[in-house]
Amino acid sequence: MKPESPVKRILRIMLIFLIIMFVFNIFGAMNVTEPEELGLNDIKKIITENTIESVVIFPEEDRLEIYKKGADEQTPPIEEFYPAEYEDELTELLIENDINPTTEIVQPNVFISILASLLPFILILGIFWFLLYRRGGMGGGGLSGFTKSKAKLVDKSDPKVTFEDVAGIDEAVKEVEEIRDYLTNHSKYMAMGAKIPKGVLFMGPPGTGKTLLARAVAGESDVAFFSVAGSDFIEMFVGTGASRIRDLFEKAKENAPAIVFIDEIDALGSRGGPGDVGGNREHHQTLNALLTQMDGFDGDTNVMVIGATNRSDMIDQALLRAGRFDRKIVVGMPDSAGREAILNVHARGKPVGDDVDFRVIARQTHQFSGADLASLVNEAAILAVRQDKQEISQADFQEAIDRVRIGLKKNRPVSEKDREITAFHEVGHTLVGYVLRYSDPVHKVTIVGRGMSGGHTESLPEEERIYASVYNLKDRVASLLGGRAAEKALLGGDYTSGASNDISVATDILHQMITQFGMDEELGPRRYGQNQQGNFLGQTFSQHNRDYSEEVLRKIDERKNELLKQAENLATRIISRYEEGLRRMAEELLEKETLKRADIESIFGETGVPRGEITWTVKDGNLKIDFPE
Ligand code: ADP
Ligand code: MG
Ligand code: ZN
Repeated sequence: MKPESPVKRILRIMLIFLIIMFVFNIFGAMNVTEPEELGLNDIKKIITENTIESVVIFPEEDRLEIYKKGADEQTPPIEEFYPAEYEDELTELLIENDINPTTEIVQPNVFISILASLLPFILILGIFWFLLYRRGGMGGGGLSGFTKSKAKLVDKSDPKVTFEDVAGIDEAVKEVEEIRDYLTNHSKYMAMGAKIPKGVLFMGPPGTGKTLLARAVAGESDVAFFSVAGSDFIEMFVGTGASRIRDLFEKAKENAPAIVFIDEIDALGSRGGPGDVGGNREHHQTLNALLTQMDGFDGDTNVMVIGATNRSDMIDQALLRAGRFDRKIVVGMPDSAGREAILNVHARGKPVGDDVDFRVIARQTHQFSGADLASLVNEAAILAVRQDKQEISQADFQEAIDRVRIGLKKNRPVSEKDREITAFHEVGHTLVGYVLRYSDPVHKVTIVGRGMSGGHTESLPEEERIYASVYNLKDRVASLLGGRAAEKALLGGDYTSGASNDISVATDILHQMITQFGMDEELGPRRYGQNQQGNFLGQTFSQHNRDYSEEVLRKIDERKNELLKQAENLATRIISRYEEGLRRMAEELLEKETLKRADIESIFGETGVPRGEITWTVKDGNLKIDFPE
């Protein structure tokens, strides 16, 4: 769910407050406060003073209206309440004093008085309602726009997004080109009796270009394009979401062929995640309206619905049923070649220096999404401008990588002890990775924090690889565990929680090695479990069908533990063997904060740490490390 803006939140709180006041006021008005009753004697006194012209009695209300002598018509009468039981006596007294009272039977106007006392509240409520939900209506459409869809019809004169602007997700683009064909050659498909998908769902991590892709489909296919975000429906009164959907589809049909693009569709059809309390009813109505619309398409309706989501786990299953979003296109994170292509797209039209090599940048931006890369190029351009340069250089890109990755360098002070622990931890990774023959060479190590972690160590394979070798994976696991091993060396056996991510990555690698790559000596070349598509959005697919026995399950578990302990043992022994190098390097890192490959090589070289030489074997459960003399 989109976070509320603070203004909206305040308005909402005030609205609730007002409603409470409103309710109290109704109760207040119900027992209309009894006015102070005059004693009979007081009234008698007024009557006998002989200044009265006429009197109207309202027996139902026990009220008198007294018109004084000589008052003109504009002067309001004096109002007095009298004790009910004295009504007769009062009337007599009036007659005695030559005043003929008129009696008016009126209904006690409780309702009017309630209404009158509530009027200001109703007005204020109305104003608040307007303020809160006006933005939901068509801009400036006022109250009548309430149920109107706020979908934007993208203007054809807008600068078009084309497939040229989308890079690195070629497979998704290829699939999307089919959609374009469906829309433009609709009648051909109809003539052939072919069923065309009504809905297509783009799924993938944030920033990978789903929204961009949808806009490219629109730009390429020359059809009307209605774009709306699922979160737009969240904050509305019950029923308005549904009518907006109806309105949206009406417009789309009028403008067919058309694409209705619903971004963040998970917000619409969420399976009720946390923070969804109370919103469920509305969600269901909106979702149902959408489903009804989609089910209602007949063959001739040339409207295609494209949904996009970062949260495929949150999608309501009803959306995925046949005849709805039955086409799913996974938009994944770009690989290194993809990243290079995306960098090129975003560098288009910018003055990029001759020394810039996007292949190198792409290699260093593992785990960057398209959006990250877009901001990387932008950061680099900003850096160039700040230095009054005419061109963006490789160094600018290099620096921009750190900026994007680190976010903003930590401003809050880190304690000296923490810095020291971080330095040892990172150097531990570096050292183990450096000496082992099959691990990837360390490219950079830093203690400048990003996000949650205090620092990080970057290692790069010498060249892009398609395959991961078993030796490489095992050495990688060992260097992952080198962080904690180094902490222990520094803290005399103590260690911190800083290794949790390392442990999780190491465990994942081993799990894959055993169950998917057939890389375990004892469990053999077999796949364990089915449908292991790895993980998507950081979440392992839950459709894991176990196709092995309980016994094997236990064995897998055992092997993972063994291999992790082995790797830990290996790391610990390497660290203690080269502790001098470790300490020297940690000191250097504490001082410079970031060390590049050349620095690392020279420091380790001076302290006699061998580079990429160490191999190891395990015989009968015993680890044998071949340290060079
Ligand atoms: P998503 O919808 O998947 O979260 P967006 O489409 O909103 O991501 O991407 C945000 C921006 O990042 C885009 O406008 C574009 O500038 C850039 N971007 C993301 N993916 C790509 C890509 N594959 N190719 C080119 N640019 C991309
Ligand atoms: Mg998006
Ligand atoms: Zn670590």
